[in-house]
Amino acid sequence: MRILVVGSGGREHALAWKISQSPLVSALLCAPGNPGIGALAELVSIRADDVEGLAREATARRIDLVVVGPEAPLVAGIADRLAQAGIAVFGPTAAAAAMEGSKAFAKEVMAAAGIPTAEHATFTELGPAVAHVRARAGRVVVKADGLAAGKGVVVAGDVAEAEAALRAMLVERVHGAAGAKVVVEERLEGVEASVIALCDGERVRLLPAAQDHKRVFDADAGPNTGGMGAFSPTPAVDPAVAAEVEKAVLLPALRELARRGHPFRGALYAGLMMTARGLKVLEFNARLGDPETQPILMRLRGDIVPALLASARGDLSRVAIDVDPRAAVGVVLAADGYPARPVTGDAIEGAEGPWDEGVQVFQAGTARDAAGRLVSAGGRVLTVCALGDGLEAARARAYAALGRIRMRGGHFRKDIGLKRDLR
Ligand code: AMP
Repeated sequence: MRILVVGSGGREHALAWKISQSPLVSALLCAPGNPGIGALAELVSIRADDVEGLAREATARRIDLVVVGPEAPLVAGIADRLAQAGIAVFGPTAAAAAMEGSKAFAKEVMAAAGIPTAEHATFTELGPAVAHVRARAGRVVVKADGLAAGKGVVVAGDVAEAEAALRAMLVERVHGAAGAKVVVEERLEGVEASVIALCDGERVRLLPAAQDHKRVFDADAGPNTGGMGAFSPTPAVDPAVAAEVEKAVLLPALRELARRGHPFRGALYAGLMMTARGLKVLEFNARLGDPETQPILMRLRGDIVPALLASARGDLSRVAIDVDPRAAVGVVLAADGYPARPVTGDAIEGAEGPWDEGVQVFQAGTARDAAGRLVSAGGRVLTVCALGDGLEAARARAYAALGRIRMRGGHFRKDIGLKRDLR
């Protein structure tokens, strides 16, 4: 099989790494990829959101399966476009990807399917939205409807903060058209967790549960980031919770989407909060998470390609997910100044291995300079992952490997995998 991976982050490096081990693969390409992925796949210089360019390339290069990492091309219809060209794609159509692309749509599906979630109202006008948050004393969460690069959610502390968020989105349009509509939710309290499943439109296969760390500094201090690390398994999702998520969240969502004529094929990610009133869905993503994918794929045994292909073709009935009993921890090395103003162009030393069994470094914001040296090129530079017998052992191995990598100004959290059930 000839496979094209779309994207350029740590998630896509992990996917390319796992796919490259499959005996079914005769050619592996990645667009646009990064230097780490370049060691495993032929890099094609097409942006991940250039749907037309990617579809043309996939056709010209006789690709059998396209594996899409990020949400933007999915929401823009890459799966629809590839289906027209007769190419199998791991990832949902635009209509199904609206579970991530429109928070109002996801809420509508949840309501129709009886999926537990925060109470909400949708607004396009400032006046009624302000009246609504005042009536709730500001204990709300304001969410831009569309894709806002992970910055479209404001958990408000009081009325002033909620009003400021509404004004920024609806009037100042800080997120452009993505904030022309907002969803205002009741603010929930509890432990957060996420569950990701491969879906074929009807059936699901749960991946091992992972938990990420979003704040930039230890003990969840500092601003939010794309994610500073992740670990798997997590005590927040034991087998009973996983079974409940499958039955009460994932399968009803798939049934409702199929009923609407939009079967969901690809990875469906449920972001959850365990509240005193039970499990509630905070959001859906229409793709694998980054950095959760990195430790999750470290724990998958066997060939991933038949599972991706079965999801793409709509029949997971013969797929079983074989999980390594060991724990995996992934620690993100971030650039100086991340997340506010990441500095790029710093030399990275010691990131290219070789590594011991069960240790991998997945690159993200990296590039080669004119002399061919590896340098930083983005906020999250790489994810160091390790397997170990238990989280402590996995942590020790990941941090030991990270200790061999040098980058000026590089910073990372020291408590990845320690969070357990803390917020
Ligand atoms: P989302 O992208 O919708 O998952 O929101 C991003 C983050 O905002 C979540 O990971 C939560 O920490 C927080 N959040 C979202 N919705 C709520 C809610 N209804 N109550 C409390 N916190 C929330």
